[in-house]
Amino acid sequence: MANAKNPLADPKNQRAATQLVHGGTNRSQHGETSEALYLNSGFIYDSSAAAEARFMGEDDGHIYSRFSNPSYDMFQDRMCLLEGAEAARATATGMAAVTTAVMSQVRAGDHVVASRALFGGCRFVVEDYLPRWGVQSTIIDGRDPENFARAMKPNTKAIFIETPTNPTLELVDIKAVAEIAHAHGAVLIVDNVFATPLYQKPLALGADLVTYSATKHIDGQGRCMGGVILGSKELIEADVHTIIRQTGPTISPFNAWVLLKGLETLALRVEKMTASAAALADFLADHPKIEKVFYPHHKSHPQYELGMRQMSAGSTMLAMEVKSNAGDGSGDNQENAFKLADALSVIKISNNLGDAKSIITHPATTTHQRFSEEERLEAGINRKLLRLSVGLEDGQDLIDDFAFALDQI
Ligand SMILES: *Cc1c(COP(=O)(O)O)cnc(C)c1O
Repeated sequence: MANAKNPLADPKNQRAATQLVHGGTNRSQHGETSEALYLNSGFIYDSSAAAEARFMGEDDGHIYSRFSNPSYDMFQDRMCLLEGAEAARATATGMAAVTTAVMSQVRAGDHVVASRALFGGCRFVVEDYLPRWGVQSTIIDGRDPENFARAMKPNTKAIFIETPTNPTLELVDIKAVAEIAHAHGAVLIVDNVFATPLYQKPLALGADLVTYSATKHIDGQGRCMGGVILGSKELIEADVHTIIRQTGPTISPFNAWVLLKGLETLALRVEKMTASAAALADFLADHPKIEKVFYPHHKSHPQYELGMRQMSAGSTMLAMEVKSNAGDGSGDNQENAFKLADALSVIKISNNLGDAKSIITHPATTTHQRFSEEERLEAGINRKLLRLSVGLEDGQDLIDDFAFALDQI
């Protein structure tokens, strides 16, 4: 069959790793191999009439890089293929993505429900900023979907969740919460950073908008900030596009290009990091100086069954409680957690995640320091807790690093 069309010519028929290398590529007249970087703020029109037509929306060319640019398009299109989304918009940071996604769905007088275990900045937006703008919010324990159903009000316009949560890797049942949202005419927004687009598909489970901090696994090499919002054409092109166009939380062409190139290696990196994370979870769970590990695909996880159902792998993130130095290992003190982190060598103390370099964080004294003692403990963040983002180093070196450091306690 000389004229048969190769089905792989349609990127939708490619598997994720192939989409991540080729998806969204839009070559210029020069036929460059690697994607070109369009480092420009504006665009030139052939005539005044052409400019008028562009502003009238009669052709879909670019106008100004606050709202669109060929480098954003390539990154957004590649993300859409991976996520199975109709449309996407990139933003300057992950927080810009979350804030824009939530703000695009509410106005004064509305109400938002959110799960309590959220990335610090996300919780601040929901708990502190929304009420300042006349949008009430209710924060609940997201582990039980019934809590969402109970918190819904006639004016609830959005539910916002993160799963697995930061830093305790609690899970929220996306499908059950999507059904509750839709029964009340609200949208479900999911921050999918911890699971990555490879291992959890919120849109397929019923979510309406998905957000990422692309700073994390998508760049994954500690170079630049970015974010992305994905969803239906309707929500993205009307609601999300308009707020980005008019308020400007836009990504830069350079960062969009770095993230586009980051996607080429996303599957390779995340699969390797996840294999090491699973091995570390096993090692730590059996160690006498570790009280508990939190890893969605480890049998000891209280929501193990949901983790197996909702996520296709356990992710690159885990958390652990180090037995305290109180005689029987109980009590809430941080001495041993600090000792462990300080004795690690390959694994660095930092607060980023999803990076090629393994990173350990003590949430109670850093990322969640702003929480009151009560809020902190309610969110499951005691002083014995360490969060680990597993990197690309040799997996055995990571286990050896922990074995040595645990011996120092
Ligand atoms: C990092 C992170 C954010 C914020 O992203 P930035 O790129 O740092 O602005 C939001 N949600 C989660 C779950 C994150 O890990």
